Amino acid sequence: MNLQFVKGNSLFAKTNKIIKQYNYLTEDIDTDVIIIGGGVTGSILGYYFSKNNIDSVILEKNIIGYGSTSITTALLQYELDSTVRDLEQYTTKENIIQSYKLGMKALDEIEEFIRTYDNKCNYKKRDTLLYTAKSSDIGQIKEEYNIRKENGFDVEFIDEKNNPFSFDLKAGVYAKNAGAEIDPYRYTHQLLDIATKNGLKVYENTEAIKVLYNNDSVEVVTKYDFKVKGKIIIVATGYHTELFSNRSFGVTTTAFNVATKPLSSFDGYYNKVLIRDNKEPYNYLRTTMDNRIIIGGEDINFIPDINNYNEVDKKYSILEQRLKTMFPNIKDIEIEYKYCGAFTSTQDNLGFIGKDPANDKLWFNLGYGANGILFAILGGIMLSKLYLGEFNDNLKLFKVDRFDN
Ligand SMILES: Cc1cc2nc3c(=O)[nH]c(=O)nc-3n(C[C@H](O)[C@H](O)[C@H](O)COP(=O)(O)OP(=O)(O)OC[C@H]3O[C@@H](n4cnc5c(N)ncnc54)[C@H](O)[C@@H]3O)c2cc1C
Repeated sequence: MNLQFVKGNSLFAKTNKIIKQYNYLTEDIDTDVIIIGGGVTGSILGYYFSKNNIDSVILEKNIIGYGSTSITTALLQYELDSTVRDLEQYTTKENIIQSYKLGMKALDEIEEFIRTYDNKCNYKKRDTLLYTAKSSDIGQIKEEYNIRKENGFDVEFIDEKNNPFSFDLKAGVYAKNAGAEIDPYRYTHQLLDIATKNGLKVYENTEAIKVLYNNDSVEVVTKYDFKVKGKIIIVATGYHTELFSNRSFGVTTTAFNVATKPLSSFDGYYNKVLIRDNKEPYNYLRTTMDNRIIIGGEDINFIPDINNYNEVDKKYSILEQRLKTMFPNIKDIEIEYKYCGAFTSTQDNLGFIGKDPANDKLWFNLGYGANGILFAILGGIMLSKLYLGEFNDNLKLFKVDRFDN
């Protein structure tokens, strides 16, 4: 696969094939809400807007779920990329704890979704681990543990003496039921399957190329010159926002992932938890329902033309070696999938959910940072309610202009 911003042989795209194809737009249409982007975020929006009986349409320029949705590692966890102490220079402790609580709320929401509609997306609840292999960082991890404990999160502190993993760990925060793993591509299609039955319309191979704002409406012009008229648009285009805003939303890197073949054992991989270390750049790991391990990280400054970057294989090798070093008792580790792509994060690790400050008809749901999917769920809930006139105070955390001076 070689789409702009997504390169390589993606596990989730390859193992699933194309689940369902949607038509492209062949006429002018009217709706209330025009959602641009058919990745997991756009599909989450489509699900919540249709659940609230709001007439909505998704326009996707390529194939549903083939953008960063196909390469996300899809670890769902309440904690953010950085610790409370690291984030405090950009936001308040109260905001960070509130973000953790919102992450838990989004986890409950997805659990409820699975209970209601069945598990068609390899969802599995997991514990999580944040750890360090450096003695000098023990204090930092201990502090993170204390803050979470004081704020009511179900956490345990682990160190060298009670380390159940086969890798070197000096200190770790072990959080119970604090995360989940999912197949993001299947989840996207499950959402759309339900939402289209509730009235959502989805068009693939339908690129938005122009947006025209009128007094009481907005009009999107597609590549083949069909027009979609609505009351608002919501930008759910992941890391492509130039058509809609000249705002710089975050810092983009290129992130790398490799996935093993199915393994015969998980010896040393305690409880198949979601794992993250505190290195710079960090590594993160998860398992899959068909017994693979995915390891990601090794981010570098964003490289738009990754085909001409000759260090790619070196990055994949580093990840493979790291995996083998962490789990020496798993003897059949063999890498089957290698892929990479753009990843955008923000100073406070939160994405952008809400209206453009200068344009009431332009809304955003951008799942930036490593919790993109959970925050997109919150975006779906809060924006569909906002459309119906209910303002949720938590929207302030995700304000589009919160970094403006
Ligand atoms: C390597 C990596 C690891 C990650 N790990 C995690 C993780 O562990 N947990 C987590 O929660 N999040 C993670 N994220 C973040 C998460 O992947 C993103 O939040 C999420 O995948 C983005 O989905 P999306 O739908 O917003 O974007 P995309 O999947 O990129 O979808 C946007 C869609 O918009 C379409 N589009 C763009 N422009 C137009 C246009 N003009 N007209 C019509 N369509 C358009 C694109 O074709 C694309 O399909 C990770 C991301 C990466 C890259």
